[in-house]
Amino acid sequence: MASVITHPAVPLALAVALGSGRVPPALTAAACAASILPDVDSFGFWAGVPYRDLFGHRGFTHSLFFAALVAAAASCFARHVGASWRFTFLFVFVSAASHGLLDALTTGGLGVAFFSPFSNRRYFLPWRVIVVSPIGVGAFLSSWGLRVLRSELIWVWLPCAMFAGAGRAFRALLTASRSAMR
Ligand SMILES: [Zn+2]
Repeated sequence: MASVITHPAVPLALAVALGSGRVPPALTAAACAASILPDVDSFGFWAGVPYRDLFGHRGFTHSLFFAALVAAAASCFARHVGASWRFTFLFVFVSAASHGLLDALTTGGLGVAFFSPFSNRRYFLPWRVIVVSPIGVGAFLSSWGLRVLRSELIWVWLPCAMFAGAGRAFRALLTASRSAMR
């Protein structure tokens, strides 16, 4: 996996780029939770679930189908987060699905079962640039953890920050040009 602190970078970047008018804080919080949720399958390591199993790590909970289930559940609470159900579904779906995509960029473990439960085949993306994060806090507090954080800063946080900044600048330009035309 990419580390648990890095997965929310995607919903946070999207929320900053689109602005709080579009993405209310409650929806951002829900999407951040959805971006971490797939790693709930890590408990399978302790429960003896084999890695390659349907419910093994990077299996069903890392699939697009699971992301859609989470998004559908979140859209039931759309009114509470202050957005339309369609937008809530889309935003939470992209956030949950981004988890598997980031994991598919990592250097270790098995690939991601994007099409589970229909196929348990595991996939990586062609560019495996993110140093895989260890399972467990102990290993994370080591030189391995530092290498993980460094690669995630370069390959996740930096592009996300650039995307968020560009989106914000674009919105500011749009607002300025609109008020100039009035
Ligand atoms: Zn994961």
